[in-house]
Amino acid sequence: MMALMASRKRLVIGNWKKYIESADAALELAKGLKRKTRGLAGVDVAVAPPMPFVAAVAKTLESSPIKVGAQAVSGTEGAPHTGEASAAMLKSIGVNFAIVGHSERRAMGETNDSVHRQLVEAASAGLMPVLCVGELEHNAEGAHFSFIEEQLRSALAGAQSLAGKLVVAYEPVWAIGKRADQAPSAATVREMAIFIRKTLAEVLSRQAALKVPVLYGGAVEAENAPTLITDGDVAGFLVGHASVDLDQFVSIVKAASKSS
Ligand code: PEP
Repeated sequence: MMALMASRKRLVIGNWKKYIESADAALELAKGLKRKTRGLAGVDVAVAPPMPFVAAVAKTLESSPIKVGAQAVSGTEGAPHTGEASAAMLKSIGVNFAIVGHSERRAMGETNDSVHRQLVEAASAGLMPVLCVGELEHNAEGAHFSFIEEQLRSALAGAQSLAGKLVVAYEPVWAIGKRADQAPSAATVREMAIFIRKTLAEVLSRQAALKVPVLYGGAVEAENAPTLITDGDVAGFLVGHASVDLDQFVSIVKAASKSS
């Protein structure tokens, strides 16, 4: 993974959050996914299990094309940081990517500055950062565009060399955890995906921005995945609650696969 984005394949990442509560359940889900996505063309699949199960899931999936990532990574330097897992530690157990800037972690106190440090730490250790950006509310005057622009600019400050080693996920906070009927329309997703790519072109370069897959996340379910992928102009999905329902997640992966 760096094959996470070596091709123009679509990418679907499952963020298992804290939904999976035992190692047995994590391994069962990983094995099911391996079995049910075998041979699917045109899509890369990745999962981010809860931290205690990352190593075992990575081991279980090492012979499969499914990539394994961490839901969070430390942005701190040095060892005396209780409870933190560094990018180098994660890399040493077979992890390929790390989600940074997820809104649920921003809500626990992470700032644009700490997100930037996590992104730099992840990338320097060879993990692909999956940078989440998303507004708290959709604003009729368009304030959500400047909010997202600020999140992108601060996370990527001085990180121009990251082009080709970065994934961005647009995750409007107001849609996260909701059902498909409360997700933004494909037109809304498309408008923001275009804006994100334009901002990336300014922050990185036009050429570099073309190499950054822009995913959508927030209330993606089997029901709305086909429309969002066809009309949303995104390179794939970051999926939360629906990613721990094996059949539903496989349907989402297939929707991404078919339309590539
Ligand atoms: C997420 O929080 O990354 C997410 C996409 O959640 P959900 O799919 O549950 O909306």
